[in-house]
Amino acid sequence: MKNKKHVIVIGAGLSGLSCGIYLLNNGFDVTLLEKNPSVGGLCTGWYRQGRYIDGCIHWLTGTKENDSCYHIWQDLGAFSSQEDLVYLDTWGDFIYEGKTISFYRDYEKAEQQWLEVAPEDKKEIKKFFRMVRAFTKVSLPMHKPTSMLSLGEMMKVAWMIIKHPSFLTTMLVNTDKYALRFKNPTLRFAMKNAQPGYGNLFSLLFSYATIANNSGAVPIGGSKAFVERIKNRFLSLNGRLIVNANVQTINTHNGFASGVTLSTGQTIKGDYVVSTTEPNYTLDVLLNKQYKVPAIQKRKNDYRKYPTISSLMVTYEIADLGDLPTIVNFPVEPLIVGNQKVDFIDIRNFSYDAQYYVHNNKTTCNTLFHQFDEDYIYWKQLSKDKKAYQKEKERIARELVERIETQFPQYKGKITILDVFTPVTLERYTNAMRGAYMSQFTSSQPRLSSSGIIPHLHNVYLASQWLESPGGLPFAVASGKWTAIRICRQEGIKFNYKKSSLYKKATI
Ligand SMILES: Cc1cc2nc3c(=O)[nH]c(=O)nc-3n(C[C@H](O)[C@H](O)[C@H](O)COP(=O)(O)OP(=O)(O)OC[C@H]3O[C@@H](n4cnc5c(N)ncnc54)[C@H](O)[C@@H]3O)c2cc1C
Repeated sequence: MKNKKHVIVIGAGLSGLSCGIYLLNNGFDVTLLEKNPSVGGLCTGWYRQGRYIDGCIHWLTGTKENDSCYHIWQDLGAFSSQEDLVYLDTWGDFIYEGKTISFYRDYEKAEQQWLEVAPEDKKEIKKFFRMVRAFTKVSLPMHKPTSMLSLGEMMKVAWMIIKHPSFLTTMLVNTDKYALRFKNPTLRFAMKNAQPGYGNLFSLLFSYATIANNSGAVPIGGSKAFVERIKNRFLSLNGRLIVNANVQTINTHNGFASGVTLSTGQTIKGDYVVSTTEPNYTLDVLLNKQYKVPAIQKRKNDYRKYPTISSLMVTYEIADLGDLPTIVNFPVEPLIVGNQKVDFIDIRNFSYDAQYYVHNNKTTCNTLFHQFDEDYIYWKQLSKDKKAYQKEKERIARELVERIETQFPQYKGKITILDVFTPVTLERYTNAMRGAYMSQFTSSQPRLSSSGIIPHLHNVYLASQWLESPGGLPFAVASGKWTAIRICRQEGIKFNYKKSSLYKKATI
């Protein structure tokens, strides 16, 4: 079926690529406009000093065949087989006072190790792993918007929650407080730091259960190779991709959009516009504050209640790495990063993907520092003075190297810094509010979600990870797909999608 309607999609991140692919599959003409020279948005990678730097995927939720997100990855061509993926043995090792606690993918092995390290915490450890087991059964419906779920599908979700009430109760438990339930200092350290500040037990369990469920792999070749495969799927369906196309305004009149204008002055006409930029940017800049979506604006205006999570990442290479665990966390003499005093760090080494990350016996590694709104404000101010900004990035990198050398003296003189990015880098690259890299952080605050429909504007939709808490790649691609479903519905056509070979062709 060929439907001649033309949809302009702003932003070629994961949401935009997903929306474009599903629309093309339904006979629409699609023009995807991206302000950067390459696609991917926050999900990207780049080169420094000839070395590949990965800017995103720590784990990709939904790589297991029966996961609710798996068929979306298949529809998008994100990986052709399990050969494109690697499953790490651990979600993280935590070293403290000479002992190690590991979040092994094999959670029974983890439970065994924890009991050996902390027999005094047997009761709490058993409780924790009971919850991990329950969370491995969670499967959120991602195939269509929640508001379009059938009664049967809603009942399934309700039943899942009734059977495992910990899905709701753990949302109210802050991980800092939860850690205090454990007497063993190593276990306490691991529990406190497994999730960034403001973290709650739900998100810790959800993330770990994804790994433990064999549904959180890492793509070989990193985020760049992953996103290139999706771009190729878009192009193979005859999608039109224009890079270096910075959209300045969405042109609206009487509640309808006629298209967009680029910063070059060029106007592109369309029957629909889907904006996948961070939604406050769409509302404030592209739509010139003419329309309101309260759930989105609350996140911007009340950051103390709804904190934004961003990051500062240092990438470096280590010569003669030896057998350092893939993801290792340890306490350090405090160092200042943004407005925070950081007293533990993590090292992630990419030796599991040697073709991309190991050169002349030097292995690429990185350390991510979580940053929040006040930190962003600090970096934004500092970045006005380019020299001071650069100097501060260098200081953090230098102090990081010192801390690593203290913990692992064998790396003295063997670490070379490759790159440092801050929340301001993320903001500049994607226009994400305060350099956010995820949506509303899961906390005890009410969830601020949005359908992407803009009241009183009939042919413009928002689609992105920021419409749902906590965001991330699964929500980005689901949001793109859901928007395609809404547009099909508005056009009165059945949403048609070619599912993976595991699924039959289906309609909604
Ligand atoms: C360090 C880091 C680690 C991460 N790790 C993980 C992980 O392990 N797992 C996971 O699930 N998620 C992870 N994420 C989050 C993940 O990257 C995001 O959830 C996802 O990429 C968001 O996709 P999006 O399309 O919704 O938004 P974006 O990627 O921001 O896409 C928006 C696009 O719009 C473009 N744009 C903006 N303004 C304009 C304009 N005016 N004109 C044209 N184009 C415009 C931007 O350039 C961008 O390409 C991580 C992110 C970071 C930064």
